[in-house]
Amino acid sequence: MYDAPGPVPDFDFRPPGEARLVQASRWPRQIAYVAEHSAFYRALWRGRTPPATLDAIAEMPFSDKEMLRADQAAHGPFGSYLASDSSRINRIHRTSGTTGVAMNIALSRADALLTAAVGGRALRASGLGPGHRVVHTLNYQLWMGGLTDHMNLEATGATVIPYGVGNTDRLIHTIRELGITAISCTPSYPAVLERVLAEKFPGVKPRDLGLKLGLFGGEAGLDNLDFRRRLEETWGFQVRNANYGVSDVMSLFAGQCELSNDLHFMGGDAMFAELVDGDAPLPWADGTTGELVLTHLSKECQPLVRFRSGDVITLTGTGRCACGRWTPRLRVVGRADDMVVVRGLNVFPTAVAAVVNGFQELSGEYRIVLPHGGPYDRLPIEAELAEGQSQSAPLTESIERAFKSVIGATAEVTLLAPHSLPRTEGKTRRVFRPKA
Ligand SMILES: [Zn+2]
Repeated sequence: MYDAPGPVPDFDFRPPGEARLVQASRWPRQIAYVAEHSAFYRALWRGRTPPATLDAIAEMPFSDKEMLRADQAAHGPFGSYLASDSSRINRIHRTSGTTGVAMNIALSRADALLTAAVGGRALRASGLGPGHRVVHTLNYQLWMGGLTDHMNLEATGATVIPYGVGNTDRLIHTIRELGITAISCTPSYPAVLERVLAEKFPGVKPRDLGLKLGLFGGEAGLDNLDFRRRLEETWGFQVRNANYGVSDVMSLFAGQCELSNDLHFMGGDAMFAELVDGDAPLPWADGTTGELVLTHLSKECQPLVRFRSGDVITLTGTGRCACGRWTPRLRVVGRADDMVVVRGLNVFPTAVAAVVNGFQELSGEYRIVLPHGGPYDRLPIEAELAEGQSQSAPLTESIERAFKSVIGATAEVTLLAPHSLPRTEGKTRRVFRPKA
């Protein structure tokens, strides 16, 4: 039986050398456990013995979400990457993900405790702790954002009220009656609360609820500084982006501290992080942008090795933060699937959208249709005209100039007739690549 090592106390305040020693000491046991008990990784490694030290981790092949999905489909319900006996599973979550195929996530007792310790560490840095009463309003049904994030909130020492979704009227009463001081919710939820307050609680302003801290996660939007400022002014609370995680690896392992706008990576005793560009390792240094690849250093049920998160991040700080913590800071810049490299410049749809939205002649709908597998020296963009607008060469040129000055890349813009692009519910696909 595997005795998964637990959290290291005050790990976030330990300097990099000390943190690295913790990681190096955890690797041999963890990788030997994976090699012995994970049929998935044994098959992936094809008889190759994992390296004895963490320094040589780049010798091992990557794993990714597609592989896990296929493995769970073939070896349900937990996949052949379940390394423990199924009787060791203490908690099961299901996540739907963006493609709609549910994944089963299994946690042992040790996995659950380590998850809560790391999540609690991140939330403490965001300002939550003893003396706070925090209401958790994410969905508790199956999803990790519910119960597991509840346990993360509890790990800070705060008093946690398990509310879940819906019934906003009663939530407002509950906040007032219990003297709740913090809320954990999605970035879009305050607007719902504001509407219900205006409709059913005449004279009560958002600020009157007395919330001091807003912990947000589960949706994009918080990188928009105007949006954050408006929330802080309306509600009188501190806004923190406090819930970044990768569902197959760990529910919540990064969040903003009180003194930095970037996210502290708090899971260094639970996992080893790498940055890669395609298959090539990148230096772990300030300013590096690459896909985040994670390897569990302590995980009993579904340990992962060199797992591609699909998230592209920029490492923004590896020294000591003003808050006193040494844990590295990062910014999530987009999904690797959506990134297009144009003459060495990483371009994400969010940047394209910002340019497109600056033109009232355009509807805001656009797509990037890549003609071949690359490399690209220009960005091919199809942008849809707004109602009543028509094609014109000067408009095309002025959009192309805007791309050059805002993004720095040369764009080749094609204008499409109004309403010619399909509208989809949920996440719209923006980048189209030729079939391999
Ligand atoms: Zn900090």
